[in-house]
Amino acid sequence: MQQLSDAWRNDGLRVGCVPTMGALHAGHLSLVRRAAREADRVVVTLFVNPAQFGPTEDFDKYPRDFDADRRLLAPEGVDAIFAPEVSEMYPDGFSSRVEVKGLTQRLCGASRPGHFEGVATVVTKLFIAVNPNFAVFGQKDAQQALIIRRLTADLGFGVDIRISPTVRDPDGLARSSRNRYLSEPERRWAVRLFQALQVGSALVRGGERCAESVVEGVRISLPKPIDIDYVEAVDPHTLKTVSRIDSPTLLAIAVQLGRTRLIDNLILKPESDDEVRA
Ligand code: AMP
Repeated sequence: MQQLSDAWRNDGLRVGCVPTMGALHAGHLSLVRRAAREADRVVVTLFVNPAQFGPTEDFDKYPRDFDADRRLLAPEGVDAIFAPEVSEMYPDGFSSRVEVKGLTQRLCGASRPGHFEGVATVVTKLFIAVNPNFAVFGQKDAQQALIIRRLTADLGFGVDIRISPTVRDPDGLARSSRNRYLSEPERRWAVRLFQALQVGSALVRGGERCAESVVEGVRISLPKPIDIDYVEAVDPHTLKTVSRIDSPTLLAIAVQLGRTRLIDNLILKPESDDEVRA
């Protein structure tokens, strides 16, 4: 992979990378299409990274279908698929971890200890292998994208991190590889996640500026079978909790639905007071 990428870059070609865990869906493909528009060569990485799963999480049952992924990528102008084995990425004796402080402790980091260390470690290795000019990540995993941006700046990778909007099913459910775990009734409940975010957004549009009231409005709109991990209104750059929603604010949700963990978010955009008065 490094040789291929070096050859491209020596020819002055711009290399774009889309890191994924496979089980590709329309969300992934939107990132791939963006990379294809903005790069001369596109690399998609497929790697289910054991280092980012907790001991009781779904590493073993995480969906893997390389042939289906390859078929989906065939028409998308992808120049290379980098799909290493676990033993290549983490050979015997592997002992290093990349830790990003601060951002990783918030939101999902609080309930998934070690998760973002695993992500930072694998992305570091992927960036060293692929050596891209830029990489595309999804807003769906907003915290992950911010952490990767911090990491690449801190370590001087020179990789531009581009963030693409969340792709949703027609009813609003954010596309996710984990959606295929959902039973039919769970799938019907899952849409309530997006609807709850819309409740938050409507409250802010209606003039509510108290973050606690917005969060409470969102929480009570999530019905019983949905087990809330967190609902938080945070600064979209630092992920610190805000008390007032006077500037764009990230409203982020994580829930457990049966055995499936789902996350979603949107940016709350308060109009200025002038606009509200007008
Ligand atoms: P994953 O395979 O779940 O690790 O995701 C790989 C990349 O695809 C990450 O940058 C995700 O944020 C992004 N992604 C996953 N789902 C979506 C979605 N529904 N819309 C946009 N990007 C997504």
